[in-house]
Amino acid sequence: MCSVSSNKSRNIVPTGYNLRAMTPSPRLLLTIDYESWFAVSRRYDFLPMETRRQMDEEIARTSLDPILDLIGEAKATFYLVGEIVEWYPEIPQKIQQRGHEVGFHCHTHRRIKNASELKKDLLASANWIQNFKVSGYRAPMITTAEESYTLLKEHGFVYSSSLYAPTGKTIRKNGVWEIPVSTLALGQKPNELIAPRNMTFKLLRGGEFPYGSSFTSGLFPRLVSNIIEREFKAGKSPVIFLHPYELVTPPRWFQRFAKDLFLHPEFLPFMFNKSKFLKDLLHRYPTSTMQDYLKELQ
Ligand SMILES: [Zn+2]
Repeated sequence: MCSVSSNKSRNIVPTGYNLRAMTPSPRLLLTIDYESWFAVSRRYDFLPMETRRQMDEEIARTSLDPILDLIGEAKATFYLVGEIVEWYPEIPQKIQQRGHEVGFHCHTHRRIKNASELKKDLLASANWIQNFKVSGYRAPMITTAEESYTLLKEHGFVYSSSLYAPTGKTIRKNGVWEIPVSTLALGQKPNELIAPRNMTFKLLRGGEFPYGSSFTSGLFPRLVSNIIEREFKAGKSPVIFLHPYELVTPPRWFQRFAKDLFLHPEFLPFMFNKSKFLKDLLHRYPTSTMQDYLKELQ
């Protein structure tokens, strides 16, 4: 079975693209960090879980079908927050039934500072991680620690996608692959990828433009689209992420988020609906899950 999903009638990758000589063949690695609408704010991270469930108002559940329809025949990787699986157990099955990959985005969405924090989440989500044969991890806020890789290996994970780095800079750490979220290196490429490599001024100062982030595609959709085209021409496979609330705008979105926007205007790009941006990418490029990409990489 061909692991790269493309609708031949829609796939308009120009013939000049070097699709033959590259291994793995270039594809868009679309990932969805499947978290509640309020995750961006981080004000609710430490409330009782039941309070967050009420705040979600079933939005994480009702957004799934329209997102799956939007993605259509393309393939994506959904990194699920464990408590969402607890609230709506049908979500991972629905995702897998459509041929997508289910990954892990911690049990509760928050910044994970060290491996012992991550361990709590791995244990809390152990059942569904096992039931759905989850092999990939995405750290919330793309913030991880070096010691996490050993722990992920112990818990049966095959790969992580929890750093920012130039597209194609895939490495192995303590037996676990790291497939970073894409940046474009404007200067010299980094020699070493030491965690954490999150979105900080240090990353930007080092000359890396994190175009794989939905923050960046919210601010500069056309520029990101142009970069992706350029990466494809170079035979690369960009890793980008989006969130459910960026594809299906929650009801009363502005009212829900007004206070957070007032306190943190930098959150605004996460409020923009990116379904048109995504549809355009899916029309232009083949896709695959991260798992299938990794199979070709090994
Ligand atoms: Zn997240």
